[in-house]
Amino acid sequence: MNQDEITSTLSHLPLAEIRYFDSISSSNEEALTWAKSGAADYSLVITDTQTAGRGRLGRKWITNPDSALAFSIIIHPRPEEQRILPLFSPLGSLAVAETLSKRYGVDQVNIKWPNDVLIHEKKTAGILVETTWLGNSAQVAVIGIGVNVTPASVPPQDLLLFPATSVELEKGSPVNRIELLGNILSEIIAWREKITQSEFLQAWDQYLAFRGKNVHVQQTEHWSVTGELLGIDKYGNLRIRTELGGEFSVAFGDVQLRPAEKP
Ligand code: ATP
Repeated sequence: MNQDEITSTLSHLPLAEIRYFDSISSSNEEALTWAKSGAADYSLVITDTQTAGRGRLGRKWITNPDSALAFSIIIHPRPEEQRILPLFSPLGSLAVAETLSKRYGVDQVNIKWPNDVLIHEKKTAGILVETTWLGNSAQVAVIGIGVNVTPASVPPQDLLLFPATSVELEKGSPVNRIELLGNILSEIIAWREKITQSEFLQAWDQYLAFRGKNVHVQQTEHWSVTGELLGIDKYGNLRIRTELGGEFSVAFGDVQLRPAEKP
């Protein structure tokens, strides 16, 4: 991967500017710094390796060299997007899921609510959105996406909290990383135009992992809920039927979702 190859492969997309790195601490950190100095909508940071890739809740995202995608796309939320900011995270996961399923014909692609993409119930991509604020308005939302592409991208299981895999392992054939990046970006750009519409929530809902299964959602150290995963509501909250039969809605936030029984 290099700057010229990326720039020419992505030339059909309406990107503002592309910055490629062989190695940086975190593509989100780089994008947030760039945004402060005026990066335009759809500016892209892409790196081969991250030395301190970020996950949610201060967790780490591991990006091995020559094997993965790690990129961050800078978005300037439009006025109508200000009230649906939490949906930028599922925008990333829906774009990855649609790309793998529709453009690469990968089977059993699902989204582990709210933000991880699974193939055959193993984690293949993670999304982390970080936002900067000016008063009450979000100035910039950085959508950071890590995708395990080749088998070498998959970290050893003892470093992980959930089983992982890669696109090539599940698809069974080689995948060009930069073309995959272009496909995901074009899905992000297309789905962003529908992010305020019910079609977006329906598409996301169709990919939900563990539907109809018993799941355990841990929201804080002291609060969790277990029950059947029903789907998402019109706000993108997770609907759970609890063991007592009532319906419960889990709002976006730093929650952790697991199958209550082994997947
Ligand atoms: P979880 O997957 O545990 O529900 P999460 O959605 O909060 O958590 P993220 O913030 O998306 O997780 O990612 C961080 C976690 O992902 C790490 O704690 C680690 O378990 C796992 N992880 C890190 N790097 C990779 C990778 N390359 N492939 C798959 N999983 C990874």
